[in-house]
Amino acid sequence: MRHAAILIALLTIVSARTARADGECGDVPPSDEALEAIEHAADAEDAKTDEDEAPVLYRVPVYLHVVRRAPQGEGDMPVAHAREITIDLLNEEFAAQDIPFQFDLAKIDYINADDATYRLVQSSNEERALWDLAQVAGRRNLNIYIVGPRDDTRVTGWAEFLVNPALQRGDHVVLRYLPSKGAFSDPLVPVHEVGHWMGLLHTFHFGCGGLMHGDLIRDTPTQATGHSSCDAAYDSCPDDAGTDPIDNIMGYSHACRGTFSPGQIRRMKFLWRTVRGGKSDDVPVDDMAPTETTGCTATHGSSLGLVLLVLGLVLGRRRQVRASHVEPVAQTAAGA
Ligand SMILES: [Zn+2]
Repeated sequence: MRHAAILIALLTIVSARTARADGECGDVPPSDEALEAIEHAADAEDAKTDEDEAPVLYRVPVYLHVVRRAPQGEGDMPVAHAREITIDLLNEEFAAQDIPFQFDLAKIDYINADDATYRLVQSSNEERALWDLAQVAGRRNLNIYIVGPRDDTRVTGWAEFLVNPALQRGDHVVLRYLPSKGAFSDPLVPVHEVGHWMGLLHTFHFGCGGLMHGDLIRDTPTQATGHSSCDAAYDSCPDDAGTDPIDNIMGYSHACRGTFSPGQIRRMKFLWRTVRGGKSDDVPVDDMAPTETTGCTATHGSSLGLVLLVLGLVLGRRRQVRASHVEPVAQTAAGA
């Protein structure tokens, strides 16, 4: 818990609003106390090895809020599409890297909003009103708001850290959807923003300098600023080890980014265990995928396989039924 407290304090200090496009982040430089806390947090992670951890699947309940413009209906989308571009994508991307998080749709609602809310601006009154209307509080609840485009900004989305347990609002992800494209400007924006929500900074957050590791993660090379280069030899911090981590999802090289580093994955797991999720819903992997016991005869194996197949079909059907129950489409009016 000590490390959780340290991390909360750390995130409080460095917190705030990351995720603006093209180096527009407004992060606050950390204090000496924060630097010390960073080292403690990193040391706590270093003291643990993956072998120390029983394999579990961390379950993240997701609340999707689709904001559409009233009365035109711009921004409307089928449930399946909203789910595909967020939850399905997150599950695919995390699974592709063997990151043990599963995102489950808890509920989706549709919010009919005025133009200012639909084209949401970060930290605006409209954003606060939207939280009051739709936010499902809880540190482990991932609230994702899908809002409309703006011509006057390159901000594709933003996320807030859980900076303080007393803060019940603002702990969310906002994604700017482009109806003309039928997608986000970059399909991986949700992964990037959820990375922030899980506690990751941009790879360039603290710029050059080995002490800060650029982003408080030891295995991501430092990077001076957010840029879009996909040149593998690009090295904006020539005095530090390594070249810019252009393939890292927490950078801005949209055309080539996509992966988390092992250190980032450990940080997400660490924060989930100590700050966000706890252990109440973690599912031991052994309990999730029963396999045939070695030593069974071929006949037994076949029977067991059949039982598991039938069980899987039943459970699969139950999951489908349950899923249909947790996707009520709430018609809620916000603003005009
Ligand atoms: Zn970001």
